[in-house]
Amino acid sequence: MGDLLKGISSFRGAVFPGHSELYRKLAREGQQPQALMISCADSRVLPETITQAGPGELFVCRNAGNIVPPFSTLNGGVSSAIEYAILALGVSDIVVCGHSDCGAMKGLCHPEMLQPMPNVAAWLRHSHAAYSIVCQAYPKDLSESDRVRAVAMENVIVQLDHLKTHPSVAAKLATSEITLHGWFFDIETGEVQVYDGATSTFRVPEEGEPLPVAVTGRDRPHVMPQFAAPLAAE
Ligand SMILES: [Zn+2]
Repeated sequence: MGDLLKGISSFRGAVFPGHSELYRKLAREGQQPQALMISCADSRVLPETITQAGPGELFVCRNAGNIVPPFSTLNGGVSSAIEYAILALGVSDIVVCGHSDCGAMKGLCHPEMLQPMPNVAAWLRHSHAAYSIVCQAYPKDLSESDRVRAVAMENVIVQLDHLKTHPSVAAKLATSEITLHGWFFDIETGEVQVYDGATSTFRVPEEGEPLPVAVTGRDRPHVMPQFAAPLAAE
């Protein structure tokens, strides 16, 4: 803890003075983050570092396995963060970010590891679909590291599907006011692969290319087109 205390002191004494005007403005006017990022609690995955976001730019919700439980009447921290980000802060983008070497995904692949951790085991049920997909639809002879990586990537897609069950997300998708993104951070290389909904693959975007997206309002056509509002401006 000593290093963390030194860090607090160094932030206050050496870093904060250089940004004090920005912090004062944010304190005065409140936050207007561009996006909600749901990432793993893993200490090696730092949303603000990966995106080089500054104070006020990213609304972050972290948990073991970057999981979004499907909407239910039970209250939960992730559901509350989603609702608040969309309805109170008006974010227009939500990113689910998975990563390599994820301990939660390793736990999914080895349920015996979870035996002494009943809460983790119950939480990871929200990712079982990803594990089942890899067990059934991927080669049986995948190496251990490839299996964990495949589960982590499939888990991003499963959690994006869960996002769509939340009323605030569903409504904003229907009015084309929100876009969903799936990212995968590779700890060893620092590379971020982005899920391209058009081709259903993760890839590193080309320099200058518009960011591929996972789900947009256009993916969910109005079932009664005569009542559809015009799509929001690009
Ligand atoms: Zn993780």
